[in-house]
Amino acid sequence: MVDYTALAFAAFKWLFAILGFFILIVIIIRLSGVLNLTVCPDCGGKLKRSKRTSQDKKVMFLGLGLLPIKRYRCYVCHWDGVGLRTANDGITIDGQNLD
Ligand SMILES: [Zn+2]
Repeated sequence: MVDYTALAFAAFKWLFAILGFFILIVIIIRLSGVLNLTVCPDCGGKLKRSKRTSQDKKVMFLGLGLLPIKRYRCYVCHWDGVGLRTANDGITIDGQNLD
């Protein structure tokens, strides 16, 4: 005889533990500012915003909306990548409907 209640409880406990850990990681990434971009990581050039790809939207979904991911492009070396938006990053928004 299997105790399904205990089994379900154990499964939920693990689920919440993993979810809690995941949220903690997301918050640490955000607070540490490790992904905050102000200049190009390759050449230190000026960045401009570009449109998000569908993959970026998936990443945002996985980040539970806690990571304000923006796609950036470098003027100088054409580097293209994602970073977190900072409160005053000084990056000019290029065009409309970026979100
Ligand atoms: Zn660059």
